[in-house]
Amino acid sequence: DLPVVVIAGRPNVGKSTLFNRLVGRRQALVADTPGVTRDRKEGLAVIRGRKVRLIDTAGLEEAAPETLFGRMRTSSEEAVAQAALILFCIDARAGVTPADQHFARWVRRQNLPVLLVANKAEGRSGAASVMESYALGLGEPVPVSAEHGEGLSDLMFEIVDHL
Ligand code: GDP
Ligand code: MG
Repeated sequence: DLPVVVIAGRPNVGKSTLFNRLVGRRQALVADTPGVTRDRKEGLAVIRGRKVRLIDTAGLEEAAPETLFGRMRTSSEEAVAQAALILFCIDARAGVTPADQHFARWVRRQNLPVLLVANKAEGRSGAASVMESYALGLGEPVPVSAEHGEGLSDLMFEIVDHL
């Protein structure tokens, strides 16, 4: 079985943007099923030659189990439980918010290896919150810009290093 890498964090920090970056746009588009799910939640990524199963945990905590998304949640949650690594994302421009602290507690409860990803850090924006994010207790943040494609090779190096 492929190692599972989970992208977690509060809404709007850029999880789906990072997911699409790592999975690759073409594969993300091909697998879209209109009317069922607008955003893909799982995909195959090849990171420095290593194949991983990538999961975007968007809304995992809110979905009701009887909905379609809720059933998907169940399979994603099983995958999360067996994950090799969690990429915990924050928005470096917004700084660390109470919602980040809430999601960080959820991440720590999983007892899995975690990489702290400070997204939206293009240029030097968000440098202050990159420092502030140490306080989440999830180790050294990796600054990236999923949208602008910055810091991704460093991130991929770190991911492979943690598998
Ligand atoms: P999600 O809710 O965590 O999945 O976040 P999305 O991937 O949907 O992104 C939320 C918003 O942040 C969108 O408007 C993105 O275009 C924007 N965004 C994502 N990554 C970056 C980034 O690296 N820099 C900036 N400035 N915006 C980003
Ligand atoms: Mg999303």
